[in-house]
Amino acid sequence: MFIDYVEIDVASGAGGPGRISFRREKHIAKGGPDGGSGGRGGSVWVVADENIGTLLDFRYHRHYKALPGEPGGGALKSGRTGEDVILRAPVGTVIKNKETGETIIDLNEHLQEFEIVAGGRGGKGNDHFKSATNQAPRQAEDGRPGQKLKLSLELRLLADVGLVGYPNAGKSTLLSHVTAAKPKIADYPFTTLVPNLGIVKLADYRTFVMADIPGIIEGASQGKGLGFQFLRHIQRTAALLFMIDGYESDVDETFEKLRSELEKFDSEMVNRKIIKVINKIDIIDDEDLKALRAKHPDFLFISAVTGAGLEELLRKLISCVENEPENEWS
Ligand code: GDP
Ligand code: MG
Repeated sequence: MFIDYVEIDVASGAGGPGRISFRREKHIAKGGPDGGSGGRGGSVWVVADENIGTLLDFRYHRHYKALPGEPGGGALKSGRTGEDVILRAPVGTVIKNKETGETIIDLNEHLQEFEIVAGGRGGKGNDHFKSATNQAPRQAEDGRPGQKLKLSLELRLLADVGLVGYPNAGKSTLLSHVTAAKPKIADYPFTTLVPNLGIVKLADYRTFVMADIPGIIEGASQGKGLGFQFLRHIQRTAALLFMIDGYESDVDETFEKLRSELEKFDSEMVNRKIIKVINKIDIIDDEDLKALRAKHPDFLFISAVTGAGLEELLRKLISCVENEPENEWS
């Protein structure tokens, strides 16, 4: 399973201080106390949002602080409440106290919300302290402090698009091209956890997760090696990208082999959306490429190295990811 993981700090706002104030009106020599209470500090909330697929945004913004409450005023006016901070996280995010490891909230439903750190209560103004024996209290409370927490956010990422192909087809090259090289695409290194998973970020902020699935061929459906783990994983993908080296291999034969290997693993796989791609068009000569295009009109032609055809491919992939899967075997 691929894990998307970030650490952030959150802080709620302190309550505003209560006010010490006395009524001052014409013709009234000594007014009573009228200091209002301070406003409550802002809280930090989290809301689960099924339209968000990753924790990517938290990588760029790690500190979240709600505003403090405002001080109480005269004439019994309460201070304004500090503004809350609302974090939007994908459904499936588990939020933990980073220091204790304790789970704070497990977001498993769209629009589920939770107050992670509450704002400090506002201090009471001096009006609150008047009594029979003290008609003119010169006493007010400070607001309660806000709370700080270090959080870890963890999300089990499901690959939206799985890359399927023989070794050397160019799967890793494509992944590194579309998740790192272009300014409109985010660099999202997963280091040792998942070396072959990337988040593709389109210019319009839509994202999807692409995973390279190594070793599909070498007996993967019999459960050998790493390939099997990855095959389990792609059982959940919306689309599979079949990548064939158009320079080295026979397209039809390779496609059939990939398809039958996948079917052996799980016959339900045939219901997955399949995008067929011929790679390495940069080194195929013009005449051959023309013939290849004519022979395989149902394939997209790309070069993972030069980037040719990738824009169309990404557009096609995002539309698969956002639509219901349908049967595209042919
Ligand atoms: P993988 O085994 O499917 O992950 O394949 P790689 O991405 O590691 O690529 C295998 C080899 O093919 C590498 O030497 C790449 O540089 C090369 N390669 C990948 N895509 C292209 C391409 O579009 N054009 C050319 N000329 N070479 C490519
Ligand atoms: Mg590879």
